[in-house]
Amino acid sequence: MTTTTLTLVRGSITDQSVDAIVNAANSSLLGGGGVDGAIHRGGGPEILAECRALRAARYGRGLPTGQAVATTAGRLDARWVIHTVGPVYQVSGSDPSLLASCYRESLRVADELGARTVAFPAISTGAYIWPMEDAARIAVETVRNTETAVTEVRFVLFDERAYAAFAGQLH
Ligand code: ADP
Repeated sequence: MTTTTLTLVRGSITDQSVDAIVNAANSSLLGGGGVDGAIHRGGGPEILAECRALRAARYGRGLPTGQAVATTAGRLDARWVIHTVGPVYQVSGSDPSLLASCYRESLRVADELGARTVAFPAISTGAYIWPMEDAARIAVETVRNTETAVTEVRFVLFDERAYAAFAGQLH
């Protein structure tokens, strides 16, 4: 059994040197704001070209929520970007298993690729407004409970509030 170390960094996901960077994408796979925008800006047009090809070949209706798929990382200091689509939080009721699925499926894709170090953003906590504390709990619990050959899962938190929420889950 591999031991996976969970680490926390405050900063931008685009500044990480890892095997795979996870993108909080939307189902179109054609770019967006937040993490998605930063990854496409930093990685360059090769990433979008592969995303378009994926749409044409396998995901005509877009990548379903909770699933994950890999492309090149372009100019980023990583070998792959793993795109996953988080659920949009709804006050009327949201399905935490879909958010957990993003982490689990991303790690499954990482294992298929042979990635050993993986950086995750706080999926769904931006435009998709999932409450930070709850999202941090789901993220950490899911990674802890997923069997994977990944040796480091690095959560990359953009601001102090996100960092504090994830730090609270690690202790
Ligand atoms: P989603 O649509 O899944 O909510 P967002 O990209 O809007 O995804 O936001 C997810 C989280 O990532 C938010 O907490 C946001 O503050 C944070 N974030 C935004 N830009 C970056 C970045 N460059 N690196 C790491 N985290 C980021």
